[in-house]
Amino acid sequence: MRVESAVTMESYAKGPSDAPLLDLTIGAALEEAAAKWGDRLALVSCHQGIRMNWAELDAEASRIACGLLDRGVRKGDRVGIWAPNCAEWAVIQFATAKIGAVLVNINPAYRTSEVEYALNKVGCTALVTAASFKSSDYIAMLRELGPASLPRLELMVALGGGEHDGFLPWDALRVEPDGARLALVATGLAADDPINIQFTSGTTGFPKGATLTHRNILNNGLFTANTIRLSADDRICIPVPLYHCFGMVLGNLAAVTSGAAMVYPGEAFDPALALGAVQDEGCTALYGVPTMFITMLNQPDLADYDVSTLRTGIMAGATCPVATMRGVMDKLNMAEVTIGYGMTETSPLTTQTATDDPLQERVETVGRAHPHAEVKIIGLDGETLPRGEQGEYCSRGYAVMLGYWDDPEKTAEAIDADGWMHSGDLATMDENGYVRITGRIKDMIIRGGENIYPREIEEFLLTHPDIANAQVFGVADEKYGEEVGCWVIPRAGASLAPDDIAAYCRGRIAHYKVPRHVRLVDSFIMTVTGKAQKFEMRKIMEMELARDG
Ligand code: AMP
Repeated sequence: MRVESAVTMESYAKGPSDAPLLDLTIGAALEEAAAKWGDRLALVSCHQGIRMNWAELDAEASRIACGLLDRGVRKGDRVGIWAPNCAEWAVIQFATAKIGAVLVNINPAYRTSEVEYALNKVGCTALVTAASFKSSDYIAMLRELGPASLPRLELMVALGGGEHDGFLPWDALRVEPDGARLALVATGLAADDPINIQFTSGTTGFPKGATLTHRNILNNGLFTANTIRLSADDRICIPVPLYHCFGMVLGNLAAVTSGAAMVYPGEAFDPALALGAVQDEGCTALYGVPTMFITMLNQPDLADYDVSTLRTGIMAGATCPVATMRGVMDKLNMAEVTIGYGMTETSPLTTQTATDDPLQERVETVGRAHPHAEVKIIGLDGETLPRGEQGEYCSRGYAVMLGYWDDPEKTAEAIDADGWMHSGDLATMDENGYVRITGRIKDMIIRGGENIYPREIEEFLLTHPDIANAQVFGVADEKYGEEVGCWVIPRAGASLAPDDIAAYCRGRIAHYKVPRHVRLVDSFIMTVTGKAQKFEMRKIMEMELARDG
């Protein structure tokens, strides 16, 4: 039953709780999946030519779990994974869960100082690493750091088959599975144990290790799967990174709780690989951050791909423009696409649109409170605001992380004494409980005392037929304190000049919101998880303005 704060119409809502929370470990969930759907497809890694059914995936995870036990890895030990998307990523995720080791997701884009920080911060004793990827030579970076910089690290395992001095080959971990031994280990594990650490810094700041339990992420996978109505007949195309919760929770754990197959189109996002995987594997669901969908929709040969099997999917991770949502419904055949909203610290999703919500709510909002989640919008004084008023989005419930690893201070800043996770996002909740994300508290532009919300201007700019995408941010200004700056990506073939932007805005939006400084670009500065790095764009624009006087 969904609970709305009916009496006062405060911006508070609780998601339905008719489906009970799972009280399982992730290892047990995989074993259940193998028992229920043993010979059904579980995982396809297109670029590796690997296919596994649920029984095979479970057996492979058991092999690696026993291999880790043989090497001395025990419950609670931290095991890092530093690799782009691959089948072994899922295998190590389930293998560590079977023995209660805490999987530590390391961003494949990290370089030496970042990986050193991450591994030491949480005291990883084991690390599974790809040999190399794009311009990253992981083995060389780890050798460069050496044991003096990584004193806790005892075991390094290399993927990819080659021999590397000081690294155990992945195949050496693949030992004969010992079911009795694993069953014994499993008796010592509980759903509330920490099982995963994901580093998150949002778009600024030093990475913090969000520590999540089996209960946190397995249930979030389940409720996400339920919301998009996944079953063992579905195949999810997962071009989003596995090191982020979008891939490893909304992808892998939604699959294990529903029987749907995980399809990895490539090591990293590539529009042609994603569309090709949808076509070749007959995917029914497709995931992506908004920029990925924008890129796919702009593929010149989009019409040549057969996407007729698609039905649903999730767009999340950053503002989902209305036009992109409509494009995905029309051109990618995803009539039941949903928008999810959340953050790493909340497993991640705490709101999502439903496949049968009214169209307008499905393209303009991030939906309503997820099952078992409580959501509220608060004002500066911490009080819950009336419906419709903008404030900070907070959520509470099973999905909230245990805390930031070894950082009680930062944890207390994020999660208050009553258990509410403060997101730093601005939002409103309407009378029906639908939430709109209206910006980041930190992104708000204050121009001569006028508060400006970049999101509103971005949505407006996207109504221009020649604009493919836009990012709006504040730039320092002598007179007003801040002025509105924007980077615009023109549509392919459009002839757009910076002055056209202001001309288009004039008379249509309030004068103080009209972007004063415009730059036409081919791409934005983004994190891999689709977050625009506005502070970087701001820095560049301010440098250019200073240079040009
Ligand atoms: P992460 O922890 O990397 O998943 O990032 C979480 C942040 O991404 C949130 O605090 C939001 O700022 C942003 N975000 C996630 N989903 C959405 C969405 N659907 N709309 C707008 N912003 C989003």
